[in-house]
Amino acid sequence: MASIDSLHYPSQAEPLIQNGLKSRVLLPTDAAYAARIDSYWCNSAKLRPSCIVQPQSAEEVSKAVVALAKANQLFAIRSGGHTNWAGSNNITDGVTLDLGLLNSTEYDDTNQIVHLGPGGKWKDVYDELEKHGRRVAGGRESDVGVGGFLLGGGNTFYASFYGLACNSVIAYDVVLADGRIITAEAEGDHADLFCALKGGGNNFGIVTRFTMRTIPGGPVWGGLAIHPLDVIPAGVKGVVDFTTNNASDLYTNMQFVVGYLPRFGGNICLTIANNMAAIEKPPSLQKFLALPEIMNNYKTTTLQEVITYSSLPPNYYNIWFTLTIKNDASIILKAAELHDQMAKELQAGIPDQDFASHVSFQPLPYLFVQKSHVANSSGNVLGLEQNTGDAIVIQASVSVRTAELEAWARPKVRALVDEVRAFANNIEGGVMPWMYLNYSHSSQEVLQSYGPENVRRIREAAWKYDPEGVFQRLCPGGFKISALKI
Ligand SMILES: Cc1cc2nc3c(=O)[nH]c(=O)nc-3n(C[C@H](O)[C@H](O)[C@H](O)COP(=O)(O)OP(=O)(O)OC[C@H]3O[C@@H](n4cnc5c(N)ncnc54)[C@H](O)[C@@H]3O)c2cc1C
Repeated sequence: MASIDSLHYPSQAEPLIQNGLKSRVLLPTDAAYAARIDSYWCNSAKLRPSCIVQPQSAEEVSKAVVALAKANQLFAIRSGGHTNWAGSNNITDGVTLDLGLLNSTEYDDTNQIVHLGPGGKWKDVYDELEKHGRRVAGGRESDVGVGGFLLGGGNTFYASFYGLACNSVIAYDVVLADGRIITAEAEGDHADLFCALKGGGNNFGIVTRFTMRTIPGGPVWGGLAIHPLDVIPAGVKGVVDFTTNNASDLYTNMQFVVGYLPRFGGNICLTIANNMAAIEKPPSLQKFLALPEIMNNYKTTTLQEVITYSSLPPNYYNIWFTLTIKNDASIILKAAELHDQMAKELQAGIPDQDFASHVSFQPLPYLFVQKSHVANSSGNVLGLEQNTGDAIVIQASVSVRTAELEAWARPKVRALVDEVRAFANNIEGGVMPWMYLNYSHSSQEVLQSYGPENVRRIREAAWKYDPEGVFQRLCPGGFKISALKI
């Protein structure tokens, strides 16, 4: 029965209040609730939960999970709130467990490791670590959250050294469905969970602290260059060669983007490139540096500045799809051509032209797989080793202003990726099995793409650590292992 004190609270908040979390609950009438909803990067994700609970410690996360599980209450988990699709990190008619106040960065000089709260943003992580002359192999964009990025894998500037960012995590503090708070490490009782959390998303519990190895900080050289569209063939050749030769220059990273990006002048292509050892104009980038340019801002600068260059404007409805292809120029050119067609359709259908679209081509050389094993001999569940050679991750994106336009544009982005896949399927090894969770649309079969052995490991860990299936039944957001048929 509801207490008198809590009568004006929605029923969804009642279990939280009864478990002592009343002061952590935000209601739809609270200004702080509105601010938290507004802080989601993407409009598609700005659902209106019955209430938000903002724990301030792992113990409070535990209290919240126990209360929600006991009440059979649907909930969502949110860290940085950067996943774009509706329902991934927020919920209608349910409780959003918002980890935004668990945002600390605590450096331990003795062991040169850092403890990160899931709700931190990478710019704050780098700011704090810089005071100690250190950094981590973390996010490439300033406002992306620690939690979702690391649980999906994490494409980092240091992938040539350590593979995806999750390989640099050495311990996870996790709140389980029954309220226990455990630490999963490479050795010991929870080694299976340690491995499953590296790519397995929110299937097992709520991570309240990530412990990562740090690396030396210092200046970087980098920035972006905007090119006219006619450089696309040369840029594509450049990205293929860069990917093939990545082992010769581990400190340099780049991505090549074709897009309709009004803030850069409309239909353009661009190169985002950095050298993490602050070597100016490294030889591995010569092909890109020789391309005709509209402008570039390459310079020696801070990591904090470089991570602003991948920012995408907030407050749009965004559609993202992904695909991993062979490092092959003809497939990349096909994707660029399909983007051009899609951008024309969008321009014709959106009279005020207030939209953006792009396809980015991100190197995924086989080197990243080899370096994952060196950095983290305990493995992960990503299944990247299924990729038989050098690959390119495609991230296709459209940003529009209304939910109606999102519904209209979604099939176009899906069709672009489907047509690239169909084209690539005609080339031997043209489509790589693995798909990147953090760039995927909710309809994409991400966990399946990790391969049957990794699906088994995720499934076993999910049922071992959450035998009642709380995170499967009550937390519908994210990619759920229980949804798989295999
Ligand atoms: C502008 C922009 C740039 C980006 N750049 C990159 C990039 O360079 N490299 C890259 O790899 N990705 C990049 N991404 C994708 C990004 O990694 C994902 O969107 C990631 O999920 C964001 O993390 P978050 O904490 O903000 O996630 P949220 O949206 O808060 O959460 C993502 C998912 O993880 C779950 N989750 C979050 N925290 C926890 C937790 N502590 N315990 C259990 N489950 C949890 C949520 O329930 C949700 O399903 C970018 C995204 C944007 C919008």
